[in-house]
Amino acid sequence: MPGRLEDRVAIVTGGSRGIGRAVVERFAAEGAKVWFTYIRHEEAAREVEAAVPGAVAILCDGRDPAAVEAALQTVLARDGRVDILVNNAGVAHNGLFAMMPADNVRQVLDANVLGTVNWARAVFRPMLLRKSGSIVNVASVAGLFGLPGQVAYSMSKGAIMSLTRGLAAEAGGKGIRVNSLVPGFVDTDMTASIPSPARRNYRERIVMGRFGRPEEVSAAALFLASDESSYITGQALVVDGGLSVTVI
Ligand code: NAP
Repeated sequence: MPGRLEDRVAIVTGGSRGIGRAVVERFAAEGAKVWFTYIRHEEAAREVEAAVPGAVAILCDGRDPAAVEAALQTVLARDGRVDILVNNAGVAHNGLFAMMPADNVRQVLDANVLGTVNWARAVFRPMLLRKSGSIVNVASVAGLFGLPGQVAYSMSKGAIMSLTRGLAAEAGGKGIRVNSLVPGFVDTDMTASIPSPARRNYRERIVMGRFGRPEEVSAAALFLASDESSYITGQALVVDGGLSVTVI
């Protein structure tokens, strides 16, 4: 049986680890050719490339528009088109806002917002020419409500959801769908450093009583990227085990 992304060309930013890696694996298993970016962890990226047939790693800092354009041109030169973009790459710097160095705030905004903007702008033109495409922007439940110690991160993820809605409104009539994927707490390197008491506290607030697995997020990314969501655009799909539905 053909996969759900048979013959599609996908770009996944930050595919060397965590949620991005799970997206690369899932998309490739569904038949897509998957180009994925990384910035620092070359070894991890090569490991994904070796383990996943149809996956190709590109070193590309999403904060740099020229690097993004160059990476896109590599993809277009080889495959001629981009059907799917998953804007997944992101960083978190946690700490009380008043104590956080301005540089940390800038790093979060640059990686999360500018990186997403740069890639969305870059793929938009080739998608417009083909009048077809699906963009999935990875936000976070932190962008839906306030979390102490995560002001900059929350702001960046809220911006991603606003970008998604605006872009969807502009792109809908042109055959391009744009949606946000909104994970709660997921077991990856990003959450590995959360101290045990805080982890326990968060777990107690999650209706399903546990952190999510990257594969549970990549399943939702597949839905948004594929034709199964062909009438869905501008939306935010929350994948958080029920974290955001309770107030206690
Ligand atoms: P992770 O394990 O820390 O992986 C981050 C990935 O992003 C890595 O592949 C990293 O590349 C790449 N990256 C970071 N900055 C980059 C840049 N400037 N250019 C290109 N690639 C860059 O993170 P994760 O937990 O999988 O998170 C993935 C996304 O989900 C992020 O947007 C995050 O905010 C969001 N999210 C995560 C959670 C969670 O609980 N884990 C919850 C909600 C939302 P290298 O390997 O080269 O460093």
